[in-house]
Amino acid sequence: MQTIYEQFLSGAEILQGKTLFERPGKADISYSRMRMLVESIAGALTQIGVQPGDRVAAQVPKSPEAIALYLATLQCGAVFLPLNTAYTGPEIDYFIGDADPRLFVCAPETLDQHQGRASDVLTVETLGAEGDGSLLERAARAPAREDHHPCGPRDRAAILYTSGTTGRSKGAVLTHGNLASNCEALIDCWRFTADDRLIHALPIFHTHGLFVAANMAICSGATMVFLTRFDADEVISLMARGTVLMGVPTFYTRLLKSDGLTHEATAAMRLFVSGSAPLLAEDHRAFSERTGHAILERYGMTETCMIASNPYDGDRRPGAVGMALPGVTVRVADAETGTPMPADEIGSIEVKGPNVFEGYWNMPEKTASEFRPDGFFITGDLGLIDAEGYLHIVGRSKDLVISGGYNVYPKEIEALIDELPGVLESAVIGVPHPDFGEGVVALVVPKPGAKLDETALLSALGGTLARYKQPKRVILIDELPRNVMGKVQKAELRKTYAGLFS
Ligand code: ATP
Ligand code: MG
Repeated sequence: MQTIYEQFLSGAEILQGKTLFERPGKADISYSRMRMLVESIAGALTQIGVQPGDRVAAQVPKSPEAIALYLATLQCGAVFLPLNTAYTGPEIDYFIGDADPRLFVCAPETLDQHQGRASDVLTVETLGAEGDGSLLERAARAPAREDHHPCGPRDRAAILYTSGTTGRSKGAVLTHGNLASNCEALIDCWRFTADDRLIHALPIFHTHGLFVAANMAICSGATMVFLTRFDADEVISLMARGTVLMGVPTFYTRLLKSDGLTHEATAAMRLFVSGSAPLLAEDHRAFSERTGHAILERYGMTETCMIASNPYDGDRRPGAVGMALPGVTVRVADAETGTPMPADEIGSIEVKGPNVFEGYWNMPEKTASEFRPDGFFITGDLGLIDAEGYLHIVGRSKDLVISGGYNVYPKEIEALIDELPGVLESAVIGVPHPDFGEGVVALVVPKPGAKLDETALLSALGGTLARYKQPKRVILIDELPRNVMGKVQKAELRKTYAGLFS
């Protein structure tokens, strides 16, 4: 196995002056320039005293220098811990307290809040959006580091905190083997080469932006068009010279709202990938009609990197996430016993392979409870594998509604509601109900200008759904609460509507 760092290094030796980062209005950064940057930051880390296995936490704006900090951390054999830039004081307290890093790198503008954390065992440095801040100043003074700490597949490379959609974020410990094996499988599946120009508009503190997008570009010798935020019209204008876009579903919803999205505008592109949350089947179809490109939807999670993908060649099905990646085994099993289910039956999605993490940081019991005795990891998602082998996700086990003793899978009801005229999207949740345990509630977002009402929606559903699945209430709202990755925050909705039936 070649680690991600080793692949970067050998790529830099061959590619030299080739552009790695391209940014609108800013100077390009070549592979050789990036190598110098990485080795100089590794020099600073070494001078600070970062040892193999130590955590390097970073809550910094997206920049090539932030990616350099990640690679420098791997070069030193240390463990990279990126943090969501939206986290504030008390949240950072939790992550620092939990992960016990040797170094914390924050944005220069937040230094005031974090300076007090510095101690003999925790150094605080800064890194800004323009590569400004104390880290690079120190790197300029310290001797660059040219060797790297040799790492094997079982050595730790990163701790990535989960998105916190279902509860408090958990630190997933990922090894060099996890990252390298997944990157190799994806490069193979999605046919990445040095000719690719990836439009990178994702945040880099999650698996999607860092371990899928950035790792794949770096390891295949491609160029990244590196954007600090997603702007639909800017992204469309960059497609003329791009080949691949990786996005969360909201990117596609927003691209579809722009008149600029056409066959011509996307003619140079070869691949559009979606993941992190379910892509609306309607968006998938609309995108194909507008551009002639079928979006390739894939499925993964922090703990496992990518698990399944629709095929590169072959049918990319709206609403399905495809087949297991090479080397990865996916099964749908009975949630109680772990026994595999027949095709088309809903059960717990479980996964095994070189992509599956070591465990949750500091949570041995939680880790043990999420693995089956035969080594399969219980993802917490529910789904089915159809007769043709495509995996479909029907929701999270924590979002399963149990009403009057019957299982209600929100996705089935959401799909029906979304088909109704005037409906943009919906979220179905269960909230406490005095008779049924939980009552099904549908939150519905109307299309712009559409007039909807609860009674009409309830009666439209009446004919198509078994009684126990029918929402007891439909509530119209302007938009669904989402986090930066476009995930609908159902826990928040459950909290908001907890008292509906009491
Ligand atoms: P937490 O585990 O803290 O509650 P989270 O599960 O949202 O948060 P992530 O690891 O970022 O944290 O997200 C992984 C989850 O995202 C998967 O378990 C799955 O529910 C969802 N997901 C990812 N890709 C898809 C997809 N293509 N379709 C549907 N859901 C997806
Ligand atoms: Mg999760």
